[in-house]
Order: sequence, then structure tokens, then C-alpha cells
Amino acid sequence: MAKNTSPSCKQCRREGQKLYLKGDRCTAEGKKCAMDRRPTPPGQHGLSRKKVSEYGMQLREKQKARRIYGVLEGQFRSYYDKAERMKGVVGENMLALLEKRLDNVVYRMGIGASRAQSRQIVNHGHITVNGKVVDIPSYQVKVGDEISIKESKKNKACFTALKDAKITMPKWVSFDTATLVGKILENPKREDVDANITESLIIEKYSK
Ligand code: SF4
Repeated sequence: MAKNTSPSCKQCRREGQKLYLKGDRCTAEGKKCAMDRRPTPPGQHGLSRKKVSEYGMQLREKQKARRIYGVLEGQFRSYYDKAERMKGVVGENMLALLEKRLDNVVYRMGIGASRAQSRQIVNHGHITVNGKVVDIPSYQVKVGDEISIKESKKNKACFTALKDAKITMPKWVSFDTATLVGKILENPKREDVDANITESLIIEKYSK
């Protein structure tokens, strides 16, 4: 399966802000985060880049959103196309589709420390949806779906540790750390998206 192999911290430096791609390391004390140590764009001419054009801003916003959700260009474009065909506001539809990816849901429930780690958890077949193993990170969840850790994997240290974890999750999902079972309570709304994304810039770029 194709995936973005660019180093995570370099992606944050490219976008000029913390994208929180590495889980705990991103919020660790000290100077572990590359954006605290060297917040300049990567490359020899990182500091000498000139004023960004309108197109450049749209491009950067799209790249940033792609990086946050760990989605490749073609896949990202297909979310836009699908969002355009749906009723409602295109930008909000697109963000809802990204939020409802199974890897993002696993992250938002606090099962994985980052979206990348959550994607790996799904890829390895540790997650079930309504009792069946789903190992496709882009799988779209629906309201009412029950998300759980595969029964035979529930005793793995990384999952038992969740029992003592304090998890902050958005109101459209629930996750019971005692039973390791979660549920999709409602569709995510715009205010539920915690990523710093200006979707109107992405829509402007794609609608040209
Ligand atoms: Fe980005 Fe900092 Fe996390 Fe690296 S440690 S991925 S620079 S937020």
C-alpha cells in the first residue's frame, strides 16, 4: 500500500507549524520536537523563501491537511470529489469524510497515540468494526458502528495500558477503556475537527 514516507518532523517544518504526527513526542517536555529546535523550512534555501502567492497558500493548506490525515494526493482528491457530490457545505463534508476514516477514528478514540500509529494498528488487523476485523485504514465508519480491539489482542500491553489512560475524545465518538469498545455516536461536525485547517483554501484550489 502506498504511503507518505517523508520524515514526520520535516513535514511540520515544511508547513511551518506543529502537525502532531508523532504522538507523545510532539507534546513531550524539553526540545524533542523539531519545531521547537529548528522551526525553519527544510532545505538549503529554507529561510530565503519569498512571499507566498494566493495559489501557494492554497497548495500549502491542501498539503498540510493531507499530511495531518496521512493521505496521498489521489486519495485526498477523491475525498473532495465525493464531498462535492454530497448535500451540504463541500469543505465540511470533506473534513467529515477524513474524520470518519477508521485510522482517524482509532486515533480520536485514544487507542493510537498518533494517526500514523493508529493506521499501523488497523493495518495489523487489531481493530474490529461490528465484530469483524477491518484492516483498511481508509474504511469509512458509520453512525452506530461499534469499534473494538480484536478479542485475541486485548491483552497486549499497549491496549491494557489504555485502562489507566485519561483520554480526551470528541463528542461524536465514545470509547470505554474498561471493555475497549467504542461507538460512533454521530457524524462529526466542523467544530469537532481539532486540526488547524482552513478548508476554504483547499476548495478554492480544487474548484479552479
Ligand atoms: Fe511535528 Fe514536532 Fe511532532 Fe515532529 S515532534 S512530528 S516536528 S509536532
